[in-house]
Amino acid sequence: MIIRARTVVTMDGAPIENGAVAVSGNEIVDVAKFDEIKRRNAGEIVDLGEQALLPGLINAHCHLDYTCLRVKIRPQKSFADWIRAINAEKAKLSPKDYLASINEGFAEAKRFGTTTIANLTAFPELISRITPPIRTWWFAELIDVRAPDRANETVDRVIEFLKAAPNWGLAPHALFTASKNLYRRCEEIARRENILLTTHLAESREEMEMYRDASGPLYEFLKNIGRPMDDCGNRTPLQLFLGAIGDRALPQCIVAHLNEVTDSDFDLLERSERRFHVVHSPRSHDYFKHSRFPFEKLRTLGFNICLGTDSLASNEDLSLFAEMRAFQNESPDVSPEEILQMVTVNPARALRQENALGRIQPGFRADLISIPCSGTGDVFEEVMAFESPVDWILLNGNEERNTPHAAKLSK
Ligand SMILES: [Zn+2]
Repeated sequence: MIIRARTVVTMDGAPIENGAVAVSGNEIVDVAKFDEIKRRNAGEIVDLGEQALLPGLINAHCHLDYTCLRVKIRPQKSFADWIRAINAEKAKLSPKDYLASINEGFAEAKRFGTTTIANLTAFPELISRITPPIRTWWFAELIDVRAPDRANETVDRVIEFLKAAPNWGLAPHALFTASKNLYRRCEEIARRENILLTTHLAESREEMEMYRDASGPLYEFLKNIGRPMDDCGNRTPLQLFLGAIGDRALPQCIVAHLNEVTDSDFDLLERSERRFHVVHSPRSHDYFKHSRFPFEKLRTLGFNICLGTDSLASNEDLSLFAEMRAFQNESPDVSPEEILQMVTVNPARALRQENALGRIQPGFRADLISIPCSGTGDVFEEVMAFESPVDWILLNGNEERNTPHAAKLSK
């Protein structure tokens, strides 16, 4: 099959005008100017017309469990109040509700052109009952704040559920909800099974206040539910995280948020040889009014930075296009091309799929999306401005259309 479009945005060199992609089975086998592709490849031609062809987008951080909580929780006075509010909403939900919520989330992500997703779930026992319509890395979200003496059990219990999925990892939730032993156990398993880890780190001012100063609303909230608070009062979240996770597993680790980073934390990052990956969720970040995400400093230190939607308990939809726009608003100096890398090439690397996903390149998986393209301006600007669901999608070589946009032509 040959797919032709006005512009092919390969994310591997400059966009190709009047370009085409040859696909065989679930693999991209050739990409070049349409004329060359026709000369070198046989097969049915799909002409998408005035469209830009892009690699399918990759969401590096979300929680589809909470798709059903869209607009249910208004911004709260404190992060601790938001945790109370989401816990109150969660108490009303049954496993059936969560199944519906996760399935709805998958469908929505796909409608917006997401073909790969890193999804945290608090209910790994539901994984075997779900057939994701897109490539999915399932991360079991682990919390042992009420039973820190059973950390190993908490982790080991979910492994069998996770093994029902082709791609999985572990997500110790955050330093304030997962014990040091739980992080250790996750790290051990990550190295043994060669899997990925993800966690929330240094997200809110309250988290910094809790660890550095042993005070603030999050500190009080956790103290009141009986969390041992002896790790608070003298270190930053980043220092504690690096102590808990150990150096060796860092390249397998995707860290969400990282808004609260002190100067001494940056010194620490600069000195450490191994780099983890970072996910920023611009619209969830705006919702919580967090401190500015230190994009420039992290980029200068060589961190691989991705975008994610986070959950709909702090966001309005699962569109990565909207996420790119929100990021462009907060960082207008970053080029649209670099922003598009943050939902293609960069998350592919974080998921260790840099040779299979995130680019249109021979040998890569055939995950493509197409959006309208006038050809009058910069194609990356047009990508940033795109607001609708995606009309045409190729997922693992299978073509799906939402509208009769593309005309099939015989060769
Ligand atoms: Zn999250």
